[in-house]
Amino acid sequence: MKISRITVWRKDLPLTKPYFLSGGRLRFDALDATFVRVDTNDGSYGWGEGTPWGHSYLPAHGPGIRAGLETLAPSLLGLDPRKINIVEQTMDVTLPGHAYAKAPVDMACWDILGRSTGLSIANLLGGDYGDATRIVSSVSTGTPEEMTAGINRFREMGYSAHSVKVGGDVAVDIERIRAIEACRQGDEHLLYDVNRAWSRAEALRVMNAVRDLDVTFEQPSETLDDIEAIRRQTSNPISIDEALVTLQDGTRIVHNGLGEIFNIKINRVGGLSKARRLRDLALAHGIQMYVMPTGGTVLADTEAAHLAQTIPASHRLGCWSCQDMIGVDPAPGSGARNEQGTLKVDNAPGLGVEPDADWLGEPDTVYE
Ligand code: MG
Repeated sequence: MKISRITVWRKDLPLTKPYFLSGGRLRFDALDATFVRVDTNDGSYGWGEGTPWGHSYLPAHGPGIRAGLETLAPSLLGLDPRKINIVEQTMDVTLPGHAYAKAPVDMACWDILGRSTGLSIANLLGGDYGDATRIVSSVSTGTPEEMTAGINRFREMGYSAHSVKVGGDVAVDIERIRAIEACRQGDEHLLYDVNRAWSRAEALRVMNAVRDLDVTFEQPSETLDDIEAIRRQTSNPISIDEALVTLQDGTRIVHNGLGEIFNIKINRVGGLSKARRLRDLALAHGIQMYVMPTGGTVLADTEAAHLAQTIPASHRLGCWSCQDMIGVDPAPGSGARNEQGTLKVDNAPGLGVEPDADWLGEPDTVYE
């Protein structure tokens, strides 16, 4: 089996509501998505998606994915897509870095491997525990009242976990956290996601002002050095998200005790092949995990749900259903969908998602 064609589509994904990232400093109305179909000489194929959460959240750029694919495609044509590690290594040699540009190809290769063996991606990744994963909402920053209303909208959709974006003024953040905690329901799980917005001093002031609450913070400041300094002077659990990119980042986090939770965003770390190693590292060190896409449709959500279902419940904190914030659906009737606040993949071969050809329309580029 050899890769014979790589087809690329660019699509705009409108958000159902404008979104303000932590601190309100970044606004999004639509996401730039890239869909990839990898075909082989024997008629097999697989699908990939790469959708950064806007251009300003991470060093990941929608047009950058397509530029990366232009560079990668000639070295991918002719490879056996089932030899996942060889495809991965070829991409890393052809284009060092740019992990997010390679992730859609990696996803499509796992889909092909699954279709050709009759196994789901979750089972290929080591074994599907078979139970659904709790969806974590993504609550746009705002006033305490606006944010509580945002949480309520997700509660109506069955959600019982929320990633609440803080990271503004110290006093306002303390007010936000205390107001939201006062409304927490039952066994709801809340994560206060700072998206790197605090200085070290701001992080210490907010986190230590609410240390009486059982709350978790995510990515309080920019770098692992910042988080290491903050970790030494705070006690609430810390989840690491944007600063967890490479396996080497992961080993530093576990060795130096920088955080207690990994948030593995598959597109950010370069695909399932690299994400599974972070999963195994976390399991070896008592680190719990979220597994999420950086954004996107049911394709990206389903990819993450597959990996999530290979993590034992004791270490699996949640996934994301970005599709619930998007106004279009490229694959009606397939893939993991919100069911009472959870996502679950079945045993369908590969990814288990089939995009609608009419919705995709004419491709932007075909490499063959
Ligand atoms: Mg985050």
